[in-house]
Amino acid sequence: IKILAIESSCDETAAAVIRNGREVLSNVISSQIELHKLYGGVVPEIASRKHIEKVNQVIQAALDEAEMTLDDMDAIGVTYGPGLVGALLVGVAEAKAIAYAKKLPLVGVHHIEGHISANYIEHPDLEPPFICLVVSGGHTHLVRVKDYGTYEILGRTRDDAAGEAFDKVARAIGLGYPGGPKIDKLSKEGNPEAISFPKAHVAEAPLDFSFSGVKSAVLNYINGCEMKGISYNTADIAASFQKAVVDVLVEHSMKAVEMYHTDKFAIAGGVAANSGLRKAMKAACEQKGIQFSYPSPIFCTDNAAMIGVAAYYEYLAGTRHGLDLNAVPNLKLGER
Ligand code: ATP
Ligand code: MG
Ligand code: FE
Repeated sequence: IKILAIESSCDETAAAVIRNGREVLSNVISSQIELHKLYGGVVPEIASRKHIEKVNQVIQAALDEAEMTLDDMDAIGVTYGPGLVGALLVGVAEAKAIAYAKKLPLVGVHHIEGHISANYIEHPDLEPPFICLVVSGGHTHLVRVKDYGTYEILGRTRDDAAGEAFDKVARAIGLGYPGGPKIDKLSKEGNPEAISFPKAHVAEAPLDFSFSGVKSAVLNYINGCEMKGISYNTADIAASFQKAVVDVLVEHSMKAVEMYHTDKFAIAGGVAANSGLRKAMKAACEQKGIQFSYPSPIFCTDNAAMIGVAAYYEYLAGTRHGLDLNAVPNLKLGER
């Protein structure tokens, strides 16, 4: 089975060809980062227009790289939510047009199911059940993957997503957009013990997260220094902030592992590319003697390969969407 997958939920226009669910024949990503940098974040209207401009080129490049044509495809997979409605619509309209023209089955995919499925690409032996920490620009979820396509959310953020906190702190210390990779890099030059930022827990919900407190603490620290006229070390702030976030993510993840007696744990989403998180989570899983999976950084941030993998398992489960498929900006995980 060969699937052409399309992803356009945010600011990456991406297409990929996936064979039999786990083999990536091509993975093309056109990022709009340079464009949105000017504004310090993603501008939805600009994102939609850029997707329209790029989508056909990106799909053609993915087919070329796989040395195939649309006639070789068995199905079309596409992200239909969650995300920016105008951005999603470009991918969905394109996928419907191809499915109609080529009489191919259409499989709509949940973007976060895609992020989780990225783990299957480089871990051929990984199969459900397992627990996955999804940490991205818009989500921070602890998810129990009971089976392919069957999810239970064990914990979630009460306010900011982890990636959002990285981006906001990066802006505050003048690193620009997108902040996650820049904080990751700068952290390596700083002392993670220099400043003690709060690690928030939610009293009655041990698997939930809250990141607005640590973000405010960083802003207060900077304001405090500026008011007193003392200089601050941005590398120390980055390293200490990253440590505060990583510590909480690891702690809650291991709590979930204990509560649900799983022997397999995975991470997914853009923040899963963070070197500090990967290292700390690996050590924690080793200590517990459980299997740890994590995608290569290129499969952590937005891409279409992960959507193709998720589409394959949805296809096997019988999921088919009609030409009335619409973009669903607030789609819930596990809904079809
Ligand atoms: P969602 O997947 O929730 O819809 P999104 O698609 O915008 O949101 P992703 O592309 O999955 O998010 O991830 C982007 C986020 O990951 C950004 O917030 C970015 O700062 C963060 N990120 C990327 N690389 C790193 C890194 N090395 N360290 C920390 N954060 C990172
Ligand atoms: Mg992005
Ligand atoms: Fe994403």
